[in-house]
This record gives sequence, structure tokens and C-alpha cells, in this order.
Amino acid sequence: MEVSKLYINGEWTDSNAGNVTEVKNKYTGEVIGKVFEASQEDVDQAVAAAKEAYPAWQARPVSERIDLMKKLLAELENRKQEIADVIVAELGSTRTFVENGHLPLSLSEIDATIQAVEDYEFEHETGNAVVIEEGYGVVACITPWNYPLLQIERKVVPALLAGNTAVLKPASLTPLTAVIYAEAMEKADFPKGVFNLVTGSGSRTGDYLAKHEDVDVVSFTGSTAVGMDMYDAAKNRIKQLILELGGKSAMIFLEGGDLETCIKTVYGTCVNNMGQTCTALTRLFVPKSELENVKEALIKHNEAFAVYGDPNDPETTVGSMVSEGQAQTVLDYIEAGKAEGAEILFGGNKVDGPGQVIEPTVFVNATNDMKIAQEEIFGPVLTVITYETVEEAIAMANDNDYGLSGAVVGPQEEAEKVARQLLTGNIIVNGADRNPYAPFGGYKLSGLGRENGIYGVKDYLQEKAIFL
Ligand code: NAP
Repeated sequence: MEVSKLYINGEWTDSNAGNVTEVKNKYTGEVIGKVFEASQEDVDQAVAAAKEAYPAWQARPVSERIDLMKKLLAELENRKQEIADVIVAELGSTRTFVENGHLPLSLSEIDATIQAVEDYEFEHETGNAVVIEEGYGVVACITPWNYPLLQIERKVVPALLAGNTAVLKPASLTPLTAVIYAEAMEKADFPKGVFNLVTGSGSRTGDYLAKHEDVDVVSFTGSTAVGMDMYDAAKNRIKQLILELGGKSAMIFLEGGDLETCIKTVYGTCVNNMGQTCTALTRLFVPKSELENVKEALIKHNEAFAVYGDPNDPETTVGSMVSEGQAQTVLDYIEAGKAEGAEILFGGNKVDGPGQVIEPTVFVNATNDMKIAQEEIFGPVLTVITYETVEEAIAMANDNDYGLSGAVVGPQEEAEKVARQLLTGNIIVNGADRNPYAPFGGYKLSGLGRENGIYGVKDYLQEKAIFL
């Protein structure tokens, strides 16, 4: 099996050090690819290429940057099926969710970012000053494994459209999607050095890249623990920092709300992608009087939805966790929930057979101070908590270190009022769709900065005032 190469300065190259890691199918365990572990010298070369390419790229008319990005989008569209196959294999998510979730969402976001930039004025006047918005220079894009294509496009597309150049370090568990992305960038004909790919481990390749003296922006998506370390990585050059971190989002179900919408929304975010979704609604607050109805609806929904098997089979709805370690973390949280006195309504076990499949799991009789209600589990685990008053529900929803997403289901006017009081970056009211022009990002420990639409681009722009 060939080793996927690094993409540096427009060339596919072997790593200087020659260290190689295997990529496995997360359900079957079969080796599906090999990638290089980029050495410090490789990272130096990638950053140097991005630095050299920056002035010409920044000087290029925005319309030309847009044209190249449209070519990239067309290329990714062409290779949609192949990308889906790779994500199913290297992540373990189900084919249905990858084809209907990951792919269309990623492609629509690229399109929306292009459109937002098409409509944006990068220069304006205030008094006798011309204010120019332009890129920073070299962006280190460090991405997690849970949505391999989405996490890459959310960084590289706005960074480049804003006039920066980029070095991408994707997650070690899912680097093959990144290799296809780099091939698509090459096919789209981006100038040499504008985009570079270095695969390798976070603690070595990622750490060295983030701390690199010639990196101007660190754009990191991942755990809050590693995100905190990015402040250290950024301090040597006072780098611009963009952080998209963990979540522990709440759904508040109000009396008079549509229970089916509530259950469908919550269950979908907790089980699709095996709950490995930063915006998963993993705390469900329900009026005490509604608890029995909610329990019954959750059981019914799970019976109708949960189908175990090979994630590649379109019938399968519950895929594999990304790794044995991630599965063990989830099982440890389930034990912690039981030990704290919460009751399992259903699930709680690992499924016998291939992969790292964990049953969709629901806890009831839980309180908001329990570990399972406070910490991000990143698995298919939902905690149901009852409330007496809506004020109490809002207070509990806000009583958490994270603030990434949230949802309210209830009578429209009341639901909107509740949404305005939640301390979180996104809130979905009555099952509404997100749209890719709106900002995405977190309050509190969920991060810094925003992605998507023009909001995502602005984080990669700095302003210069020229007084005339
Ligand atoms: P992670 O362990 O923090 O890793 C994220 C990325 O950082 C990976 O590429 C990783 O490389 C790299 N990395 C690890 N340690 C590093 C270091 N010391 N210096 C530089 N880079 C380093 O997170 P994960 O387990 O992949 O992803 C799950 C987390 O991401 C969850 O907390 C989830 O909520 C969060 N997330 C947030 C968002 C959002 O938009 N807010 C979206 C998706 C996921 P390796 O792969 O080699 O370890």
C-alpha cells in the first residue's frame, strides 16, 4: 500500500524523517491507508512555502481567489462519492449520515462562504481614512476527526478567501479525507504554497506548527484542553487565535411544545455520528409533569431508529466510535453516571461484534451537577433532567462551562424568549434548520471567534487605516 504524501509548495513529497502511520477502517479494523508523520523540517518547509506565497496571493484580486475556490468546490462535488466512502471508512460514521449530513453540509458551507465574500466590500472610507481589510499571513489550520471534510473547509476556505495562505494539520485518525482535499486544491490550480498539507500527530507535528515563529494565525478546532494550550502556542508572535472547542449543549422542552420535534432533534444529534458532534444536545430539560411522556417517546424513537451493523450498509443507523479509547471514555462516563445515582432508561453497553459500537444511552433521574450533565462525553449519551419552572430550566442550561449550541421546543413566542436568555453561540428553536450564512461558534469554554458566512472570513482579516 502506498503512503500518502505530504503536499508542500505545490509538490507531493515524502517526509524527511520517513515515519509512517497506518489508517484503519474503524469498523472492520482493516488498514485502508498510510500517511507520513511530518517532521519539524517538513513543517518548516510547509510554513516557508506558505510565507513565500502570501504576498502575491494577498495582492491577487478577490474575484480571482473566488474563481479558484469555485473550481475547488466543483472538484469536491465531482469526488463526492469517493469522499463519502473514505469518511465512512476512516471515521466509522454511517453511510446514510455521511451522505446526507457531512457531505451536503460541507459543500453548502463552501458555497455560502464564497457568496458571502462575493458580496463583501474589503475597502471602505471613514472621514479622510481608507480602511482596508486584508489577511494576516500564514494560518495554521489544526482540525479534529469528527467531521473530517467540514472541519477542513471551515478553516481553509475563509482563510484563503481573506488573502491568507495555509498549512493544514488534520487529525491523525482521519487524514485520508485531507489528502483528497489537497488533491482537489491541486486540481483547482491554486498557486504553489498557498495551501500545504502536513499529516502527523498533534503533540509533535501540530504542536510544532502552532508554535512556529512564521505562523500568524492559529485556527484550532478540537478539545477545550488542547485549545487552552493554544494560548501558549500563540504568545510568541501575538498570533491571532481562533478556537472552536467542546460543548455540552442543552435542549429545553417547554410545556405545550411538540414532543416529536424535541425527541427527533435531541436523539439525532446524540446518535448520528455516534454523538461525536460538538453541538450534540446532550442535556434534555423537561417539565416534571412531562417526564413519563418524554421517557415513552424516547424509548419508542430508539426502537424505531437504532439499527446496528456495518456503517457502510445504508440500513445501519448506529455506527462505530472513532477509536477504542473514545469508546472506553464513553463507557467510563456511563459508569460514572450510574455511580452518581442516575438511572439508565435504555442502552449503556458496548455492542458485541466488530468496531467500537455503543448503544444509544439515556439517563433519567439525573441532576445538573452530575459529571454526565457537566462534562462533554462525545458519545451517544443523553441525560434527561426535570424542572419545576422555566426560570429554573434556563438557569440549569446556563450552569455549564460550555456554550456552543442549544435548542428550545415550545410555543413559538415563549421558545424565542427562552432562546434569548441562553448563554450559547447557537440556539435552534422548534427544530429550525441552521443556515450556513449565520455565525457558528461558542461562548465560554466553547471557544473564540466564529465560523461560517462572512463571520468566518472576518476572523482571518485585519484592518489597516490609510489617512489621506
Ligand atoms: P483534540 O484531541 O483536541 O485534537 C484536535 C486536533 O488537534 C487534532 O488534529 C490533534 O492531532 C491536534 N492536537 C492534539 N494535541 C495537540 C497539540 N498539543 N498541539 C497542536 N495540535 C494538537 O480533539 P479531537 O479529539 O480530535 O476532537 C474532539 C473535540 O473537538 C471535542 O471536544 C469536540 O467538541 C471538539 N470539536 C469542536 C468543534 C467546534 O466547532 N466547536 C467542532 C468539532 C469538534 P491528533 O489527531 O494527532 O491528536
